[in-house]
Amino acid sequence: MSGKIWLASPHMSDEGYELAYIKEAFDANWVAPLGANVDGFERELAARIGAKHAAALVSGTAAMHMALKAAGIEKGDIVFCQDLTFAATVNPVIYQNATPVFIDSNLETWNMDPEMLERAFKKYPNVKAVIVVHLYGLAADMDPIIQICKKHNVTLIEDAAESLGTTYKGKHTGTLGDYGIFSFNGNKIITTSGGGILVSDNAEKIAKVRFWSTQSRDNARYYRHSELGYNYRMSNIVAGIGRGQLKVLDKRIKKKKYIFEFYKREFSHLKGLGFMPVNDWNKPNFWLTCITLNERFTPLEVIETLEKDNIEARHIWNPMHLQPFYKGCDYIGRGVSEEIFNKGVCLPSDTNMTDDDLYRVCEVIKKMWS
Ligand SMILES: *Cc1c(COP(=O)(O)O)cnc(C)c1O
Repeated sequence: MSGKIWLASPHMSDEGYELAYIKEAFDANWVAPLGANVDGFERELAARIGAKHAAALVSGTAAMHMALKAAGIEKGDIVFCQDLTFAATVNPVIYQNATPVFIDSNLETWNMDPEMLERAFKKYPNVKAVIVVHLYGLAADMDPIIQICKKHNVTLIEDAAESLGTTYKGKHTGTLGDYGIFSFNGNKIITTSGGGILVSDNAEKIAKVRFWSTQSRDNARYYRHSELGYNYRMSNIVAGIGRGQLKVLDKRIKKKKYIFEFYKREFSHLKGLGFMPVNDWNKPNFWLTCITLNERFTPLEVIETLEKDNIEARHIWNPMHLQPFYKGCDYIGRGVSEEIFNKGVCLPSDTNMTDDDLYRVCEVIKKMWS
């Protein structure tokens, strides 16, 4: 059997940027949370995407938790959350003892359907926040979503965990709402082994998040805590990896786009095989290339056929309103997220892949259609 082809695996720079930053931290013996790399990573990431402030944290999930807390979400509040997503988007709503209501996607973006969002506001006028997601590096249709949130005076949080580098009408995802979160988990477009960041133009809120995420220690000579604290701060070693990875983000986006276009070219003649929607206003980072299947094969058949050849592919995210844990939560929609789940497959989109690897994936799929 040939070597394993991964969906998306860590890809450190050829230049060794990451190790150089880690070495700096070792030489200074700054092997701790906080430090020059954490400050540098926050500054450099914010500058890269045009955000004013950033707080580096242990994970994207922690960043979402802090975003909700900064937005004032507390017990009993209702939060509108995109239905088609990874559970990490919504779990922090539960950490805050709030209640999610799930909003369907549309086929044009695969992300939150503004029409369904508007409909949800009719049913729940007293909502505190909206969480929109930019799945697979595709931007949601932000203009109408921002307009609706402004009209109802609610906080807009963007889960941009999968979309670092994606732009919507020239602006970076994660900077369009009140808060944006990113993840640097092992399979994201750039990784720090594990980590996340919260961005916002609100300096006061970001300062508060730094305070909460370092155990909420009051400014006193002894240990005094007036607020609940968390140990959520990114370490100086992890941030060093992040600074190095930021230097190759453009390269990774370029390769991801190459992979998407490669599949598109190779599969152009396969009947009933479609691709995730890429709109004019949407300049994706192409984190994963997702295809859609009509009738002939199920996603599972494609995934299992690839698996036999030692190739990793995955289902689209399973909608939140179908999760046993979220049974009982309301869902406003018309079945689009299920439809995408029922016909979608994420293909290997690993930037470490060679053309030979890509041909190997394509051959397996083309053979299914022949
Ligand atoms: C990866 C991911 C997260 C969670 O990030 P972690 O760093 O793994 O906690 C949240 N939302 C989405 C959409 C993701 O893909």
